[in-house]
Amino acid sequence: MLGQSIQGKSVIVTGASKGIGKGIARVFARHGAKVLVVGRDLKSAEATAKDFTDAGWIASGFSADVTKLGDMEKMAKTAAERHGGVDVLCANAGVFPQVKIEDMSPETWDEVQATNLKGTFLSVKACIPFLKKSGEGRIVITSSITGPVTGFPGWTHYGATKAGQLGFMRTACMEVAKYGITVNAVLPGNVMTEGLIELGEDYMKGMAAAVPMGKLGNVEDIGHAALFLASREAGYITGQTIIVDGGQILPESQDALSQM
Ligand code: NAP
Repeated sequence: MLGQSIQGKSVIVTGASKGIGKGIARVFARHGAKVLVVGRDLKSAEATAKDFTDAGWIASGFSADVTKLGDMEKMAKTAAERHGGVDVLCANAGVFPQVKIEDMSPETWDEVQATNLKGTFLSVKACIPFLKKSGEGRIVITSSITGPVTGFPGWTHYGATKAGQLGFMRTACMEVAKYGITVNAVLPGNVMTEGLIELGEDYMKGMAAAVPMGKLGNVEDIGHAALFLASREAGYITGQTIIVDGGQILPESQDALSQM
């Protein structure tokens, strides 16, 4: 059964205290993984882990900032100490403040690069020594359709990081292939999360209307794609992407949607 190979694996999910990361962490925990729930705010990370342990699964919270190498090293070491190693890293933490180029400060640009792109690099770098020992290490990056495939005003900095993650992935997967480690990415469309809700009801309604499946995704839709990429069955897939967007990138025009 798909997902059975996840049983007993040590899984780190960054940005797992809420949103997509929480959905990914929940799917892994439900399939018997030992999950380290990572976010900067310890209380939120622990509260999420408690949701999982209350359900009878194995999880614990950890506070770390993906922009800091020292934090990422402590995170990997803690997962190894608590859970006997690191088998899977889900590099998911990300931020998406919406601001157009003319109003964007260099600081905002840097902050988004630091979390989304440098944070991916630092979390991967810190986990590689442990993933090597796993024998079937897996890295699953949360990218986005925004940047690699589509554009949206206000997200030049964000789109650049999400496309950058894929450039990173395509060489990283070659560097670690000899250790049996795979590196792949999930590209979510618009997924119902706390972060997205903050963008307002009008944004969410507009987005749902642009999706052939007529609704936004849910966080576990992304979790299931990550679970597949982390499974033993996906061991020969590396450097690849899975788009999980309800068909959002496909319509050629508004007319195409209205003729469905
Ligand atoms: P979210 O609901 O805002 O959650 C973000 C998570 O990341 C939180 O747990 C947050 O916890 C953590 N985080 C933020 N900065 C961090 C840092 N420097 N170090 C460690 N953790 C940090 O966001 P989301 O919508 O779930 O997005 C998660 C990922 O999915 C991002 O990479 C995003 O680009 C991608 N994505 C989202 C959508 C969508 O529709 N929502 C679509 C495509 C791609 P703390 O604040 O406590 O650190």
